[in-house]
Amino acid sequence: MADQGKSDISAWNVPDPRPDLAFPKLTEDMVDRLRSYGKEETIPANVRLFTHGEREVDMFVVLNGEVAMSLPATSGESKTIARHQRFDFSGELNLLNSQGSLVEARTVSETHLLRIPRSDLQRLMRAEGDIANLIMQAAIWRRIGIINEPNGGIVLMGHASDVETAQLQRFLLRNTYPHRIVEATPEQEIQSDDFLPDHQSALPAVILSDGRTLHRPTITQLADELGVTELPDPRMVYDVTVVGAGPSGLAAAVYAASEGLCTIVIEGTAPGGQAGASSKIENYLGFPTGISGQRLASRAQLQALKFGVRFAISRDVVTSEHIDGVHKLTLAGGAPVCSRSVVVASGAQYRKLSVANYSQFENRGIYYAATAMESLLCRDDEVIVVGGGNSAGQAAMFLSGIAKHVHHIIRGKSLASSMSQYLISRIESSSHITLYPNSEIEKLEGNSSLESVTWANRLTGERTVKPIGSVFVMIGAEPNSGWLFGTVRLDEKGFILTGGKDGFESTPYATSVPGMFAVGDVRSNSVKRVASAVGEGSVVISDVHRYLADHRNSVAVEPRSALAALRSASAAATPQA
Ligand SMILES: Cc1cc2nc3c(=O)[nH]c(=O)nc-3n(C[C@H](O)[C@H](O)[C@H](O)COP(=O)(O)OP(=O)(O)OC[C@H]3O[C@@H](n4cnc5c(N)ncnc54)[C@H](O)[C@@H]3O)c2cc1C
Repeated sequence: MADQGKSDISAWNVPDPRPDLAFPKLTEDMVDRLRSYGKEETIPANVRLFTHGEREVDMFVVLNGEVAMSLPATSGESKTIARHQRFDFSGELNLLNSQGSLVEARTVSETHLLRIPRSDLQRLMRAEGDIANLIMQAAIWRRIGIINEPNGGIVLMGHASDVETAQLQRFLLRNTYPHRIVEATPEQEIQSDDFLPDHQSALPAVILSDGRTLHRPTITQLADELGVTELPDPRMVYDVTVVGAGPSGLAAAVYAASEGLCTIVIEGTAPGGQAGASSKIENYLGFPTGISGQRLASRAQLQALKFGVRFAISRDVVTSEHIDGVHKLTLAGGAPVCSRSVVVASGAQYRKLSVANYSQFENRGIYYAATAMESLLCRDDEVIVVGGGNSAGQAAMFLSGIAKHVHHIIRGKSLASSMSQYLISRIESSSHITLYPNSEIEKLEGNSSLESVTWANRLTGERTVKPIGSVFVMIGAEPNSGWLFGTVRLDEKGFILTGGKDGFESTPYATSVPGMFAVGDVRSNSVKRVASAVGEGSVVISDVHRYLADHRNSVAVEPRSALAALRSASAAATPQA
């Protein structure tokens, strides 16, 4: 392949690598304890233990000898990034999930190893706290090391301004999957186009670490290919299924799994939810200098993985049934999940402006998030932020440090009733932000992307027209509850009613369906904040425990009989052709 270009990691916002934290040595005592989880083996020199793209690989502890870890290289020769010797161990984030291995492991000399199979690794992570923390720390810092490597991960070839390329990149970023963006040359574009008939463009293309190329993959195809999606086990009846991996769902998953419940999370897009779209959350306890929503979410996901949570990413739940005490959820594509209880944490999605041509410019100039990734698209340009809430205020502040100028448009007469005072003060004192009260966007113009915006002051009639290519729309959200329509009680705006007379049980989070709970932004009357979402997700698990204990006898506890009941109920409900 032609020149891969330079790796651009500025959209990642990742720290510099820390080899001291990435490659800690186990102590003698730790290795002794680990022996009960694995089997000792002696492997000759130059034997491959696992290779790029391989899934569910075991963990290896070197007892004697040496194992080299290498990344695939574009020039044909792989690059060694680590050499594991006595009491070092193999693996990175892929030890905790089903992602394919990003590195290859090969013995350098005859090596005596302790092989810990994946099934025993889960047990180890629960039982050996100090070793689990060491493995977690190493996994995180090794992934950071790979992201920083110029040829780590997969290659995304396309055009930075292309919507499909941007969507794939956003998916990879939000799932912390190492990748490089390579701007396709005209020659590469012509070569790639040979793959598809009728002169369709074959870009963006993803070049996998095993050398295969995917042309214009959907997010779901890419998620499956990389192992980002772990599909539910159809033979299982889970204790808890959490729908949504925003702050509330992630908190519920961590608490459920840490308290021994068999837990799966189904997430339509990527962990983080709305918070994942925030460049900096400054009001979440314990982070005095703020934390990006993306970082908060990836930490929470790791915590959940450590306790054995399974994640099915990039699959929406589309329907829900409750039969004989078991919930059957169906995912987009048809895969079923059976569960004794469900925590609905499906949050909300961005509201849109009512302006002609609006959808034509979504992701081509209209954005709903202001993170490091979007900032690359509008550096040194004038931009617009729409909305009077905290998310709009944060976006305006963040962009004021990157864009040439921020035009902040609000419908109300001031920010006072809708925004926190600390943000109002910062916006007022910034010379890079101009506030336009009582105003609305009237016209969006452009060809392949947004080029010009007109807005008007409703009171004075004054119009402003500016050549602007990026509008950040932050005007609140609507509940993601459509998939539950007709099954649980909703309020007039579609938020889920819980507790008291509206809930099946009088706990604050019980919905009208037994064993189904709702937390976070999707719940009627919840406080729409990260901290409250995390709080609700954490405490709902005590309700789940109580429900499972109370209904143990009424639920068809035998997975097989529960599944059989569901299957025959579904068959009876399916019209015959
Ligand atoms: C840009 C922005 C900045 C913000 N900044 C702050 C801040 O600084 N401080 C603060 O306290 N709050 C902030 N908020 C609000 C905060 O992010 C939300 O209150 C919080 O994320 C709600 O969490 P949640 O888990 O309930 O829902 P969400 O975050 O909305 O997550 C819901 C998840 O469910 C998934 N989902 C939806 N439907 C389905 C389905 N059918 N199947 C599977 N998955 C599904 C979605 O993809 C999503 O990932 C901000 C919001 C935005 C948009």
